[in-house]
Amino acid sequence: MDRGAGCEPPLLVLVRVTTACNLACGFCAYDRRLRFARVTLAEAALETLFDLLASEAARRHRIGEAPPLLSWIGGEPLRWRPWATWSRRARAARIRVSATSNGTTLADPRVRAAVLAELDELTLSLDAEGARFDGLRGWPGGAERLESSIRELVRERAAVGSGLKLRVNTVLMRSTIAGYPALARRLAGLGVDELCFNALGGRDRPEFHVDEALLPRQLEALAAEMPRLREDLAMQDCRLIGGQSYLARLLRAAHGTPSPIAECEPGTRFLFVDEHGRVAPCAFTGDEYGIPLSAIGALSELPARFREARRARCAPACADCPSTQVFGKFAVDSTVMAVAEAT
Ligand code: SF4
Ligand code: SF4
Repeated sequence: MDRGAGCEPPLLVLVRVTTACNLACGFCAYDRRLRFARVTLAEAALETLFDLLASEAARRHRIGEAPPLLSWIGGEPLRWRPWATWSRRARAARIRVSATSNGTTLADPRVRAAVLAELDELTLSLDAEGARFDGLRGWPGGAERLESSIRELVRERAAVGSGLKLRVNTVLMRSTIAGYPALARRLAGLGVDELCFNALGGRDRPEFHVDEALLPRQLEALAAEMPRLREDLAMQDCRLIGGQSYLARLLRAAHGTPSPIAECEPGTRFLFVDEHGRVAPCAFTGDEYGIPLSAIGALSELPARFREARRARCAPACADCPSTQVFGKFAVDSTVMAVAEAT
């Protein structure tokens, strides 16, 4: 079963449908222990988004371009009840659909069946093995339960002939990065198709970041191990993605070196829709460049509007671009990282 290429889609539309979550991750703004009013994207905004995406998918189909990829994130999107209905509608309109989930709902066979029926891709979050993961996420027994759900999903996928691509994303932290190669090999053994990672960021919870920020030498050690790790994973039909420029960007961040981006071609390959129905070129510039869904006639008009907004008032985030998309998080690259060049 072809589960699609690992390269970046032509247009990825990330939609934060809710800021509600049932886990307690000390590094995240949506940690269930934090007291603030949780917001879910309104039905009317979803209708508008669907119409815009369906028109864009039809336009791309007419000119022979690949369809856009709509991706649900949160909070926890699979606890947002309408995800399956909206995913079905989107796929019927030639839009590919994915979700990034903490996996807590996957113990339920009905949820796994819906995932296999309604999604093209599912990305699960798993940062470490065993009790370390449980502690990081505030989910007792979580690692074991998530692994069990992955096994079931892989088995059921084969049984029903689903083309779902199963990916696991790992947040690399100071106390866990040394265990990443072992975790990656374990996940490949479970039947996961693709692995990706990001470095712990410090924007949401600086108090957590201070003890867990990656050290440059840790990233250098992982980079040195990457070629062998990629080879081992490939033997198990599992791909570790993240291009050379992505690793280089993580290393610059660990050194505290800014990565300003003069031209990210905002709105051409990536859009971010937040829970208020505001569309921006990335998750970090909604205040400066965000446009309400109701004020958009077609997605194709956004690159020019974002460029104009950026010229009028450049967002502070652009001075040290934190967007993993820009640096090829989802690119396929087996090149050995040139650590010396990256620093
Ligand atoms: S599961 Fe995801 S959204 Fe929920 S608190 Fe953890 S990192 Fe945040
Ligand atoms: S933060 Fe990065 S991705 Fe976002 S608009 Fe600025 S340069 Fe582009």
